[in-house]
Amino acid sequence: MAAHIIDGKKISAGLRGNVADAVHRLKRDRGIVPGLAVVLVGNNPASEVYVRNKSKAVTEAGMRPLDRHLPDSISEAELLALIDALNADANVNGILVQLPLPRQIDPQKVIAAIDPDKDVDGFHPLNVGRLGSGSPALVPCTPLGCIILAKTVRPSLAGLEAVVIGRSNIVGKPVAQLLLAANATVTIAHSKTRDLAAVCRRADVLIAAIGQPEFVRGDWIKPGATVIDVGINRVPGEGGKSRIVGDVAHAEASAVAGAITPVPGGVGPMTIACLLVNTLRATCAQNGLPAPNLN
Ligand code: NDP
Repeated sequence: MAAHIIDGKKISAGLRGNVADAVHRLKRDRGIVPGLAVVLVGNNPASEVYVRNKSKAVTEAGMRPLDRHLPDSISEAELLALIDALNADANVNGILVQLPLPRQIDPQKVIAAIDPDKDVDGFHPLNVGRLGSGSPALVPCTPLGCIILAKTVRPSLAGLEAVVIGRSNIVGKPVAQLLLAANATVTIAHSKTRDLAAVCRRADVLIAAIGQPEFVRGDWIKPGATVIDVGINRVPGEGGKSRIVGDVAHAEASAVAGAITPVPGGVGPMTIACLLVNTLRATCAQNGLPAPNLN
């Protein structure tokens, strides 16, 4: 039987609607409007598109976009001074610095300069540590989106075998921490893993974050498994056009898996929805309010 397709577009739209409702209540009852500062340095076309989409989503959720677009030539000291100003600005509840940054700027220094309570990307070392030690944390958006999608078909991940392929700080490691926090038995695989196919075949939940088109084959999938495909890979398509595929050979995997995310339309749309979730959570925490109920 063909796998259930986990519709990230629909699930993210629902989540964004719930965030917008919560923002509306926050404004009506407390007069608070969450503000998100997205900092873009330079003119990387892909980053410009991401930032535009983020700002649009922020506005649609009833939040305040407080974007800062800086020239490519800005110095590290100037950027750090801007981060300081955003940290001190009570209208700014979330700060996100779009990566990559120009060569003269050390991204780790910039991330570490962000107030951890405004770190809606969840990349600050304090939030990384909080996640690892099981304390409340702002959690990176794509991993959070993966877990929300997996839970739509597996509401409890407790005791399940979970395999994550990829160990980046942005996706692989934090998603593994979230699975562990949800009581799954977690294996993190990477480029040095031996017999990756056999490792994957153990997985009740398989999360692929590799960056290699259609790398995970159908016969690596345990029958009935939940497959979350994080990959976004551009490959040549018909008529000289390119198309986007994931890290999983979708057609093959769909014939074996119980549920699977498509690419595009799976994890991708969840990332921005989770950024809105994080901005709302950060706003509530900064105002001494309980975490919003987004169900
Ligand atoms: P990175 O390149 O930082 O990490 C890739 C990971 O995959 C590494 O840990 C690497 O292992 C592992 N890997 C590479 N080749 C192999 C292999 N042959 N066998 C096993 N493991 C391998 O990528 P990211 O984590 O940033 O992103 C992963 C994918 O997710 C990309 O396609 C990216 O575009 C996509 N992405 C999607 C997002 C979304 O919103 N949907 C957001 C972020 C990323 P090692 O550490 O040993 O080198």
